Amino acid sequence: CGIVGILGATPAVPRILESLARLEYRGYDSAGIATVEGGTLDRRRAPGKLSELRAVIDAHPLSGNNGIGHTRWATHGEPTEANAHPHMTGRVAIVHNGIIENFRPLKEELLTKGVTFEGETDTEVVARLLTAYLDEGMPPRAAFQKTLSRLVGAFALCVLIKGEDDLMFGAREGSPLVVGFGDGENYLGSDAMALASLSNKLIYLEEGDWAELTHTSVQVFDADGTPVDRLTTISQVAA
Ligand code: GLU
Repeated sequence: CGIVGILGATPAVPRILESLARLEYRGYDSAGIATVEGGTLDRRRAPGKLSELRAVIDAHPLSGNNGIGHTRWATHGEPTEANAHPHMTGRVAIVHNGIIENFRPLKEELLTKGVTFEGETDTEVVARLLTAYLDEGMPPRAAFQKTLSRLVGAFALCVLIKGEDDLMFGAREGSPLVVGFGDGENYLGSDAMALASLSNKLIYLEEGDWAELTHTSVQVFDADGTPVDRLTTISQVAA
């Protein structure tokens, strides 16, 4: 339902919580945050209100300057902790808005290969599929592109990879995704509201676009993998 991603220079969790609070107006049934730092990928999730997630984080703090957060409006799978985003494997953490229409055949394919699942969401299939491609030895960009090529449906995705503290992927297909630019930081959000406290320099990805972010660079590609210049659409949002 709501997405925010930060490659930052200061602790990400309080900033992500602030952004998720701005997205509460959309409605949600659970929330979660994952961070990547120094070879560690970790997350906290909670069903219910953001105050539940805050309580979990207060009891079990989560460090790191780079993170992704999500407020979920369940479409596939009950609003439990196990089905809350981010969905994480040993290698990736993913948040997703929308619906992966072909998640059943993809899940069957992965189950046949011996992959195990923890929840019932369509989203977890994306995390497991990307992990399978990374396990095959594909570099992150190729693995993400390959994963996108397998997905049918409406989605906005935001992805972190373990061991890659200076990398975040985003993709937009039928569900909006915005890139925000900062000073030595870059961001992804499901709408301008998600990034309101972070940046007033935004670009909207177009249908089929995906983006590779570092702290200091943003590259946008179309569905064919051709680099595209969306900077012409940059908009300055009033603070
Ligand atoms: N289909 C996903 C799920 O049920 C994402 C829902 C959303 O957009 O929040 O977890």
